[in-house]
Amino acid sequence: MKYKHALFLNPYIEDKSTSVMGLFPPIGIEYVATSAKNSVDKLTLVDLRYEKRLCDINNLLKFVREQGIDIICVSITWNRQFEEICDFLKGFPKDIPLIVGGYKATEQVETLFKVCPNISIVVRGEGEDTIQEILKDTPAQDILGISYRKNGQVVHNENRQLRPADEITTPDRSLRRYNYTLNLNNVPLTRLTFDTVLSARGCPFNCKFCTFSLNPLGQKRNYSARRVESVIEELKNTNADIILFSDDNFFVDPKRSKQLCDAIIENNIKKRFIAQARIEIAKDPILLQKMVDAGFKMLLLGIESPHDKILAQFDKGFTSEMVRKYFTELKKYPLYYHGYFIYGNIGETEEEMLYIPEFAKEIALDSITFHKLRIEKFSPLKELAEKTPGYHVTSRGEIYSDAYSHKTLKKIARKIKFSYYTPFKLLTILRKFIAIKFFTFKEVAFLLAVSPWLLVNIIKREFQKKRMLNSLSNIFLKRQ
Ligand code: SF4
Repeated sequence: MKYKHALFLNPYIEDKSTSVMGLFPPIGIEYVATSAKNSVDKLTLVDLRYEKRLCDINNLLKFVREQGIDIICVSITWNRQFEEICDFLKGFPKDIPLIVGGYKATEQVETLFKVCPNISIVVRGEGEDTIQEILKDTPAQDILGISYRKNGQVVHNENRQLRPADEITTPDRSLRRYNYTLNLNNVPLTRLTFDTVLSARGCPFNCKFCTFSLNPLGQKRNYSARRVESVIEELKNTNADIILFSDDNFFVDPKRSKQLCDAIIENNIKKRFIAQARIEIAKDPILLQKMVDAGFKMLLLGIESPHDKILAQFDKGFTSEMVRKYFTELKKYPLYYHGYFIYGNIGETEEEMLYIPEFAKEIALDSITFHKLRIEKFSPLKELAEKTPGYHVTSRGEIYSDAYSHKTLKKIARKIKFSYYTPFKLLTILRKFIAIKFFTFKEVAFLLAVSPWLLVNIIKREFQKKRMLNSLSNIFLKRQ
């Protein structure tokens, strides 16, 4: 073998990780590391969120030398902490090949080569096959899907075609050095372990805002589902209590979804499942009932906007009236419904953005998250944004307008948050978790016991961000 010991590194620094980033196992790099297993003598997977000591670059370098690591592979997936990670990578040894991949790395190839002189190769797109060729020392010019340095220039090889999901080996969880638990702001909420399973890649829909259906290369990942038996096998080998199916849309093929639910029941797999879905699932009562029987507890639903003009702009395929109707059906099932919304859309007024919490309450969503619209490089909304007077898109994909600057949009986001998440709302969330048996009484007791710790961490963060007073006035004075 060319390389003796490969380090696969999730580089997000533990105490800077946001709550959601802290929750997810680094499944992307686990997929890549698993596929690399037969191409290297030894492989170590390190997640810096769980390795406080190794967050110090000197300790990490010592670890690399002591372990005889002779190639380092890093996954940059999230939008956050990009600059910090680049700074961190600059400290890596120059005599050890440094390979970088992941969603964000694919999007920022040129920047990475510019700011990190020690990066040897950037793997673009899905990396499972590419990493094997790199580790086998295939000449760089023959490896599809990479960018690399040659004579002081960056060379971009052709893209690699995407393989059917069923052909890709599922992550070997024995490579993990930690148990991933449900935690928020670095506080473990329960002792329950959490994992994600990808039962299909891609999505057949073409919602125009969507950053999932196109990869950063502009390649559409056609929907590709794994066999039900293969998913069941993976579930059996996963010891987590809570599983999130991280498919873009778990219910693309209702017949397959029903088979999967049946197989979960037949195989007596007792877990609490969460899945992402389109709200049209409300039209399928048989599937909804099977899901409840199989242990599904929570659905994450992309509503996107309460306004028909925005839904039409997104090509979302439903109207606000249809959302209301679908929720009348969904409410009949003991499931927790979390809705995603997008604000700061093209042509959207502040009043319209602030209608999100009202609409969410009206349709009885249990909780929401809302994100600012992003216009990625290949987004079909790019043209509209560019030709709409007063709108601007930054090189980082952020959109703002003359009327709504980044700062104004940030303030609107906080108004949405505090208007929706009142102390009373937090109690109803807890009640719902108990009602649908997502948590047992014992787990809720644990949650209540750690809540002061959680509160202290939240207050600390608000102070660090110098917005404690603003938060207090939003909670107690300006509630809308
Ligand atoms: S928003 Fe959801 S349904 Fe629409 S394209 Fe993206 S993943 Fe598919």
